[in-house]
Amino acid sequence: MSEPGIIKRLCEEVVNRIAAGEIIQRPANALKELIENSLDAKSTNIIVTVKAGGLKYLQIQDNGTGIRKDNLDIVCERFTTSKLQQYEDLRDISTYGFRGEALASISHIAHLTILTKTAAEKCAFKASYENGKLKGAPKPCAGNNGTQITVEDLFYNVIARKKALRSPSEEYSHIMEVVGSYAIHNHNVGFTLKKFGEAADVKTPVKSSVIENVRIIYGNAIARELMEITLEEEKLKLKISGYVTNVNYSHKGTMLLFINHRLVDSLSIRKAVDSIYSTYLPKNAHSFVYLSIELDPRNIDVNVHPTKHEVHFLYEEQIIDKIKECIEAKLLSCNSTRVMYTQA
Ligand code: ADP
Ligand code: MG
Repeated sequence: MSEPGIIKRLCEEVVNRIAAGEIIQRPANALKELIENSLDAKSTNIIVTVKAGGLKYLQIQDNGTGIRKDNLDIVCERFTTSKLQQYEDLRDISTYGFRGEALASISHIAHLTILTKTAAEKCAFKASYENGKLKGAPKPCAGNNGTQITVEDLFYNVIARKKALRSPSEEYSHIMEVVGSYAIHNHNVGFTLKKFGEAADVKTPVKSSVIENVRIIYGNAIARELMEITLEEEKLKLKISGYVTNVNYSHKGTMLLFINHRLVDSLSIRKAVDSIYSTYLPKNAHSFVYLSIELDPRNIDVNVHPTKHEVHFLYEEQIIDKIKECIEAKLLSCNSTRVMYTQA
């Protein structure tokens, strides 16, 4: 019989690298965290530059508050945040971040550099990180107000992950999706996405509108068929707003879902929306749906998984009924106009 294995404690670096790999599974996950940080820092313009689908190089430049020079030593350590002080704050947290894990995670699986300048400081400072730790003192240099974060050689030390992500163009399309979704939801913020040394693939202006950004990102064929939906419900403290395509349009199927401003996915909401459209659209035809749902923060649990992609909420059935109700009403009204149109 073989001997039992000997149990040993993993060293901290290995633990952190494993944890990081769970939060950051592909470049688009890292980018989502970085965009959320820029939005938390009240940026109005965000520029994303990538090489090789973000695997080689992923840079995000914002014009937000910047990071204080004397915080640069701990900013990439785990559980360091300026957003949450005590557990109770989670109840009505209004920022995207609160765990202080994103920068730490990225720094464990990539080379991370921060260039940042606050309005109070005369110059910018540049600092590089490895495994959560600052490498050398921050260097003063030229720079605009705001923060530029550069992530190089993502997964350089996670061989399995590196092998799994072989297609830079696929990674780029995920990045495009993240930038596009955030640009549509945050239409007052300008977003630019480009490959290094090339012209921009996405560029939305500052203070744009949802429809204008859908036009820029998904094209006019969708943008011109959009109908606005809104609904407010006192009892559930529920607010639904968004844009959905009418029955004249059948697209390959896109759903952008934000719950309390977080980009999330929900199979049950997706199914509900599909079932409504299936009675109006031909088989295999789909809709474009952008939904922003606001719920009483007390009714959702954002603290489910470090990727925060999955949001659980109470009263799910009632809320889905409300979503169906308001899309259905819109589709019915536009369907009857179409019928009248053909009869005239
Ligand atoms: P969290 O967002 O959960 O606080 P992060 O690891 O994402 O954790 O970021 C750690 C801290 O670094 C933030 O709390 C914030 O103070 C600062 N920070 C990160 N990115 C930016 C940015 N783009 N602009 C200003 N501050 C930032
Ligand atoms: Mg964050």
